[in-house]
Amino acid sequence: MSAHSDLTRNQSLVLDRLGKAHAPMSAYAILDQLRDDGLRAPLQVYRALDKLLDMGLAHRLESMNAFVACAQPHCHDSGLIAFAICEKCGQVSEFSDDVVRERLTGWADREGFVVKRTTMEIRGECRVCAAA
Ligand SMILES: [Zn+2]
Ligand SMILES: [Zn+2]
Repeated sequence: MSAHSDLTRNQSLVLDRLGKAHAPMSAYAILDQLRDDGLRAPLQVYRALDKLLDMGLAHRLESMNAFVACAQPHCHDSGLIAFAICEKCGQVSEFSDDVVRERLTGWADREGFVVKRTTMEIRGECRVCAAA
């Protein structure tokens, strides 16, 4: 189970499920796989996901309307979360980049834009698929 003791049972179940998935999951896919654990309503999953997103333990991939467990929860002070999404095998790699973050922060400062969060999604083929 998850090491986060402050999570509710549903939150732990959802996070655990996401952590074991090798591709992003939709809320309905999560619900589907947690039925045996007693989750019955989409709202239960959405509530748990909301909280996990708040805590930075999971992320939403906007372009796919799907969720992933955070790969590096303690590195989130950077305020920039980037994902490389393989369109062939569905693998998602999370990373962060200080140079990109600095450029975006610089732009926001100049524009007076108050940034809440930045999520970058890069689509393409992963190393394995590109080599195949
Ligand atoms: Zn993360
Ligand atoms: Zn791939």
